[in-house]
Amino acid sequence: MYRRAVYPGSFDPVTFGHLDIMERASQTVDELVVGVLENHAKIALFSVEERVKMLKIITKDLPNVRVESFHGLSVDFAREQGAGFIVRGLRAITDFEFELQMAQTNRIMAPKIDTIFLTTNLEYAYLSSTTVKEVASYGGDITKFVPEYVAKAVIAKYR
Ligand code: ADP
Repeated sequence: MYRRAVYPGSFDPVTFGHLDIMERASQTVDELVVGVLENHAKIALFSVEERVKMLKIITKDLPNVRVESFHGLSVDFAREQGAGFIVRGLRAITDFEFELQMAQTNRIMAPKIDTIFLTTNLEYAYLSSTTVKEVASYGGDITKFVPEYVAKAVIAKYR
């Protein structure tokens, strides 16, 4: 059976933590579709097109990873893509309650789609897109948090 999963998120911007999840998830499925959420409720630093472009560049060496944008519900995106799984990353206990609630809600809306959680690599457990933006906005070094191409793009936004 062909196993396809979606990995939805804002990725504003993508970090080494996200990349780690993508690398590991892509090794466990036949195809991983990264979904960049067009979220009008959140004010984003990067447009969806910019985020998709960054993700395509940094995942170019992962042959079974595809990047798309979507709006609306993750379960609808998963259905559209013909995916049986939604991948999410868990960093800390603080992520857990929200993620569990979302996974259970999704299960009711789409019983055939399962959520798979990957626990973050400890090295990146502290890392969030929000922290990266905050550090960059004060002129701090973000090269340990995001790939070089992304770091340049973030710095350019705050220049
Ligand atoms: P969202 O707005 O949906 O939370 P994010 O782009 O912040 O989107 O995150 C997408 C997914 O990646 C979520 O499952 C989140 O828990 C996970 N994630 C975020 N940062 C990390 C990290 N440093 N390590 C592992 N997973 C992470």
